[in-house]
Amino acid sequence: MFISDFAGTFLDANDAFLDILGYTREELQAGTIQRDALTPPEFYSLSQNALKTLQETGASGTYEKEYLHKSGKRIPVLIAVTRIEQTDTCIGFVLDISERKELDKRKDEFISMASHELKTPVTSLKGFLGLLQRRLAIHGDEQALHYLARMDAQVNRLTKLISDLLDISKMQTGQLVYREERFDLDALVQEIVENLQGTTQTHHLLLERQTRAEVFGDRDRIGQVLINLLNNAIKYSPQADRVLVRVAKDQNKALVSVQDFGIGVAKEHQHKIFERFYQVTDPGEKTYPGLGIGLYISCEIVKRYNGQVWVESKKDEGATFYFTLPLCSMDIQAKPFEMDEILAKIAKHV
Ligand code: ADP
Repeated sequence: MFISDFAGTFLDANDAFLDILGYTREELQAGTIQRDALTPPEFYSLSQNALKTLQETGASGTYEKEYLHKSGKRIPVLIAVTRIEQTDTCIGFVLDISERKELDKRKDEFISMASHELKTPVTSLKGFLGLLQRRLAIHGDEQALHYLARMDAQVNRLTKLISDLLDISKMQTGQLVYREERFDLDALVQEIVENLQGTTQTHHLLLERQTRAEVFGDRDRIGQVLINLLNNAIKYSPQADRVLVRVAKDQNKALVSVQDFGIGVAKEHQHKIFERFYQVTDPGEKTYPGLGIGLYISCEIVKRYNGQVWVESKKDEGATFYFTLPLCSMDIQAKPFEMDEILAKIAKHV
C-alpha cells in the first residue's frame, strides 16, 4: 500500500511496497521514490491516462503496468489508486503479478507447442481420409462412406480448434500475418452465409440487409470473424430456428450484425466474453462445447482494422453481436497506385 501525491512522489508506504521495488524506508522518507522514475518509457502514457482518470473521477480503476525495481529489473504489477477526499494525495495498492505473468507465458508456450505438434498428425489424417473416401466411392460402399463423412466432420472440427489455438499464440507474439486488400463486404457475407447454411439443418440463416460496402483488410480473417459469430449464434440458440444477418453503412463504417434468439448473455458477462478462454458458466446452464477463444480472436482481428466488436443482449432473450470496419476511403485506394509509381521509378533507375 502507498500514499502519494498527484505529482508522483511516494510519501508513505508499507514494507511490502518497499520490498517489491527494492527501496529502503530512509529512501522513501527522503522523497526519492518517484512514479515517473519507476515507470519504463512504454508505460508512460498509460500512467498519465490513469492519473487523468484519477484526477477527474477520484479513482484510477485497476490497471496493469511494469515498475522498475531499484536494480533495474522490471516488475509486472497490478495497481489501483484512489484520491483521499478533498486533498491532493492518494492511496493505492500495488500487487506484484510476476508469478501470474510467468505462468501466462508458460501457458502460451505450451499452447503454441501443442498446437504445432497436433497440426501435423491431423493434416495427415485428413489426407488419408480423402484417399479412403475416393477408394470407397469407387467400390460404392455407402455405409462406410457415411462413417467416413462423420469422421471427416470431426477432423474438420479438430482442425478448426487447432488453427484457433495457433492463431491465438501467434497473436500473443505479434506474428499473425494479415493480408491487406480491398474487398466487397456484401459478397463475403453472402458467401459465408450460404456456406454455413449448408452445414446446419436446424437454423435458417437469413441475410436481411446488405449494402454496397467496400472495406479494406484481410478477407479471410474478416470472414473468420463472421463464421465465429454465426457458429456461436447457432450453438447458443438450440431452441430457435433462425439467425438474422445484416450489413449496413454507418457514416464512415460498415456495420455487420448477427442476431440470434437463444440463451443470451447476462450484462455482467458481456465484456468478459471477449477475453481469452472466458466462457459463461452459470449454475444450471447447459454446458456447450468450445474453448472460449473464438470471440477473443474475432475481437483482435477487428481491432487490427480499427473496428469494434460488441454485444447487445439480455439473458434468455437472444443476443446480437455487432462488428464495424472502416469503409474504404479514397486515400486507401490511392496507396496501391502510389506503390506502382514508386516501383516504376525504381525500375527506371535500375
Ligand atoms: P466458445 O463458444 O468456444 O466457448 P467464444 O469465445 O466464441 O468461445 O465465446 C465465449 C463465450 O461467450 C461462450 O462460451 C458463451 O458463454 C458466450 N457466447 C458467445 N456467443 C454467444 C451467443 N450468441 N449467445 C450466448 N452466449 C454467447
